[in-house]
Amino acid sequence: MDTYDVIVIGVGGMGSAACYHLARRGTRVLGLERFDVPHQMGSSHAVNRIIRLAYYEDPSYVSLLRRAYELWRELQSGFGEQLLHITGSVDASNADGEVFRGSLRSCELHDLPHEVLTSADLSRRFPAFRLPAGHLALFQPDGGFLLSERCIVAHVFGAMAAGAEIRARERVVEWTAMAGGVRVETERGTYEAERLVVSAGAWMQRLVPELASLAQPERQVLAWFQPTDPSLFTPARFPVFNLTVDEGRYYGFPVFGVPGFKVGRYHHREEQVDPDDFEREPNLTDETVLRDFTTRYFPGAAGPTMALRSCLFTNTPDDHFVIDVLPDAPQVVIASPCSGHGFKFCSVVGEILADLASRGATDHDVSLFRLRRFAGAGGGKG
Ligand SMILES: Cc1cc2nc3c(=O)[nH]c(=O)nc-3n(C[C@H](O)[C@H](O)[C@H](O)COP(=O)(O)OP(=O)(O)OC[C@H]3O[C@@H](n4cnc5c(N)ncnc54)[C@H](O)[C@@H]3O)c2cc1C
Repeated sequence: MDTYDVIVIGVGGMGSAACYHLARRGTRVLGLERFDVPHQMGSSHAVNRIIRLAYYEDPSYVSLLRRAYELWRELQSGFGEQLLHITGSVDASNADGEVFRGSLRSCELHDLPHEVLTSADLSRRFPAFRLPAGHLALFQPDGGFLLSERCIVAHVFGAMAAGAEIRARERVVEWTAMAGGVRVETERGTYEAERLVVSAGAWMQRLVPELASLAQPERQVLAWFQPTDPSLFTPARFPVFNLTVDEGRYYGFPVFGVPGFKVGRYHHREEQVDPDDFEREPNLTDETVLRDFTTRYFPGAAGPTMALRSCLFTNTPDDHFVIDVLPDAPQVVIASPCSGHGFKFCSVVGEILADLASRGATDHDVSLFRLRRFAGAGGGKG
C-alpha cells in the first residue's frame, strides 16, 4: 500500500492550493480528484471569480485577503501566466444596505483606499452602470478577478513540480481514522497517510458526517450576454461589481474569456440540490432571471445570449467558511470555504490547510471558521 504524509481529497480550488503549499514544504502529498483537473462539475469553473478587499461579509476577512493577494501574485509569477486581473470593484446597494455599508466599514476599519459614489457619479465614471437613484456605490481600486480554472492548473503544476502526486478520475469512496493516521479507499486503491485534508466542495457532506446538515449544495446559473456597446464592458472601463436591488443580490464582470458580459444572482433560484443529481443544463427561467436584471441595470449589455452555465455553491447556515480540524480526529482537516464567496481565498486557504495538516495550528486568524460555532444549533456535533 502507498503511504504519504498527507492525502488531500478533492483537487479543486482549495485542494489544489493545499497540495501546492504542502508539497513546497517538503511534505509527501497525494491529491485525489474524482473528475478531471480542472473540470466543470463543481464550484470553481466558468472562467473567473471576483476578488475584492472591500469585504461587506465581515471586515475580519480583510487580513486574509491581503495575504491571498500576495500569494496569488507569487503564484502567477512562478507560473508565468496572468491569473489576477485588476479592474477595481464596485459594491452597491441602498445607503443602509449590507453591501454598501459593510464594504465601507471594512475600508474604514482597514484603511483601504476607496471612493463613495452616487448612482449618477457611477454612471458618469462607468457609463454601463444604471443603478437606482438613491443607491450608493463603494469603489475600491484593488478589486478584480482571478482566472479560476487556470489558478487550479497553476497550483497543480507547482505542487507536482515540488513532488506532489496528483491522481484524477479517482473518487474517494471512504476514509477511516486510525491510530496515528488515516486510511483512504478510492475506486482504484487504498492509501494511508499521517494526516488528511478533506476539501471536497459540494460533496463535503458525503465525506464528513459533521457537515451533513451544515454544508448545503445549491444550484447556481451564470449568463454571458453580448453588449450592444462592447467598449463599455472592457476590463479597463468596467469594474467587477456586487449590487443589491429589489430583485436580489447580483454580481458581474467585464467581458473576458467569453465574448459577453458575465452576470449571476446570489442563491439564484434558491434550489438546494444533490450534487450528483440536479439539472445541470440551464433553462429559459434561469436565463430570464439574469436577463431581466441586466436589461434593467445594465441595458447596454442585454444583447443576445452567448453562454449559460450551472455551478454549485456550498452554503453554511451563517455564510462563513468551515476550516478546522475534526474534534474527534485531529489528524483530519476539513475545508468548506464557499457560501458563494470562497474562491478569492484559495491561495491563503491552501497555506492555512498546510499549516493545520503539518502542525495542527495556523498563525492566521481562523476563529470565524470553527466548526464548533454550530454546536447546539442542531447541526454538527463539533
Ligand atoms: C457560480 C459561482 C460563482 C462564484 N463566484 C465567486 C466569486 O466571484 N468570488 C469568489 O471568491 N468565490 C466565488 N464563488 C465561490 C467559489 O467559487 C467557491 O468557494 C470555490 O470554488 C470552492 O472551492 P472548493 O475547492 O471548495 O470546491 P471545488 O473547486 O468544487 O473542489 C472540490 C473538489 O472535490 C472533488 N471531490 C468531491 N468529492 C470527491 C471524492 N469523493 N473523491 C475525490 N474528489 C472529490 C470535486 O470533484 C472537486 O474537484 C462562486 C461559486 C459559484 C458556484
